[in-house]
Amino acid sequence: MNCVHEKELRTALLTGRIQGSLEQHVRSCEDCRSFASMQRAMTMVAEAPIAEKALPDPALIWLKGQILRHQRMEAQIVRPMKIVQFAAQIAVALGWAALFTWKWPQILSLTTDFSISKLIGTSISTGFSTSTISVMLTLVLITAASMFQAVFAEE
Ligand SMILES: [Zn+2]
Repeated sequence: MNCVHEKELRTALLTGRIQGSLEQHVRSCEDCRSFASMQRAMTMVAEAPIAEKALPDPALIWLKGQILRHQRMEAQIVRPMKIVQFAAQIAVALGWAALFTWKWPQILSLTTDFSISKLIGTSISTGFSTSTISVMLTLVLITAASMFQAVFAEE
């Protein structure tokens, strides 16, 4: 504020009375007018009753922000993992479908008289090659691991 009446105006604002020549000056002086209106606004804010509901603790707001930020980051990290997991589950399902499609007669003959030792020990008599058996065992393991993961990862 660049006005010779500044000190006079401050005193007048403190007492709440702007009279006479000062009042006339304030009407014509842009600086004094804006200072006086700002001063009145500040006084109104200062004298306003404190809001019924207190503002929340800033530390709490900050903490909430941090938690939300971490949740967003976690979601971004987990998303590609879920896509890979979903693709793996589809691959396993397709593997089972392919196995059942191509080896259905042998599987049927197995169901009548099933035993793991027969499956592994006499692969020739059952009609399964060792590579087919290893594919089946791999699929069983992946399926079991996938089910295990689905059950326990949700917790
Ligand atoms: Zn002035």
